[in-house]
Amino acid sequence: MASIKVHLEKCTGCTLCVKACPFGAIHMADRKAVVDMAKCTLCGACVAACRFSAIELDKAGGPKKDLSAYKDVWVFCEQKKGLVQSISYELLGEGRKLADKLGVRLCAVLLGNGLQETAGKLGERGADRVYLVDHPALAAYQDDPYTAVLSALVEEYKPEALLCGATTVGRSLVSRVAIKTNAGLTADCTGLDVDTRERLLLQTRPAFGGNIMATIIAPNHRPQMATVRHKVMKEAPVQPGRTAEIVSKVYPETLFASRTKLLDVVDELASTVNLSEADVIVSGGRGMGSKENFALLEDLAKTLGGAVGASRSAVDADWIGYSHQVGQTGKTVVPKLYIACGISGQIQHLIGMQSSKTIVAINRDPDAPIFKVATYGIVGDVNEIVPALTREFKRVLNRQGEK
Ligand code: FAD
Repeated sequence: MASIKVHLEKCTGCTLCVKACPFGAIHMADRKAVVDMAKCTLCGACVAACRFSAIELDKAGGPKKDLSAYKDVWVFCEQKKGLVQSISYELLGEGRKLADKLGVRLCAVLLGNGLQETAGKLGERGADRVYLVDHPALAAYQDDPYTAVLSALVEEYKPEALLCGATTVGRSLVSRVAIKTNAGLTADCTGLDVDTRERLLLQTRPAFGGNIMATIIAPNHRPQMATVRHKVMKEAPVQPGRTAEIVSKVYPETLFASRTKLLDVVDELASTVNLSEADVIVSGGRGMGSKENFALLEDLAKTLGGAVGASRSAVDADWIGYSHQVGQTGKTVVPKLYIACGISGQIQHLIGMQSSKTIVAINRDPDAPIFKVATYGIVGDVNEIVPALTREFKRVLNRQGEK
């Protein structure tokens, strides 16, 4: 078993570890740090914070976990206001293939409030079993209760693989669950397969800024957890009438406690097309020159039925809201068409959009790095090219509409 030890002779009672612990697992007694093992996840934050090397973490020690007890492929089905998000159907489609290869069940996990009927419908998307936890505290996503409930399910039913969308919710949730359950986790996968002999999940994702594709395995940990990018896998088809076994779990109230209080969930403006869902994205960078010029992008996006994205420079300049930012610290998008206008193509931006099917780059600098990932490049001024494209698309689309 992994373990953590406080060397009392080195501990000065400075409380740095208490402040560093994200789980409130350390307190002081007689000016010495004491770790509460019921709360400690062995994350090591206290070890890094301690200036006196007074805390030692042994992650490797002890006998190995019995991995044979872990069965089934799970998909965490994300819901918003009771509606299952399309990424979950994509994962059920992929999960079905993996479960069939491994000869195990495909199970969906649904957390929310008043979702009995929705849970039943997941059978039609290929789930053999649905774990449902229905509680008012789970109506909207909150880190603490979601983490506690999903970790409890994982510990009781032991899935060998757990897939989750690489969404804001998915990223926040499974990283916490992976720590709590000592599981392996690969973030932001674009491809999944299984090694049926070793029962390993082969998790492929771009690495080193997208220059190579790395396939990652977690041979010593279960479950093998992966977050998967939106729109890289096909949605599971609907099989009308197909049913799943529903396992409704009831947990003690203490499991739903939260350190934060959810006051309100504010929807994005109705006029904003969800970037992650859009098939066409027209994105602008510092080269757009001003907030007013973003109207040119909105016009083009509207003509093509798409959404407006942005580089971080444009967001930092307050030309557009953060919810539109594409890239490392923004959204990862995989539209059919991505039009980058006045964006240089720094790696932090490319990470978020380079898997788009067709990339059109407009930049007045012929050496801009964006052209290296572009399918089509237009060297010129965005103020001339973007309106010209809009005019031409409108003309062609109108003509098609008349036919
Ligand atoms: P610039 O790099 O300034 O490029 C502007 C481009 O516009 C130039 O290529 C120029 O030739 C062109 N141009 C200028 N005028 C015109 C014109 N009239 N017509 C045509 N072209 C014109 N960036 C992101 O985008 N997303 C992220 O999530 C992100 N996360 C980051 C995280 C970290 C930790 C760090 C350090 C950085 C991050 N960045 C991110 C910032 C990133 O490094 C770049 O600074 C940023 O992407 C540059 O934005 P830009 O291309 O709009 O601006």
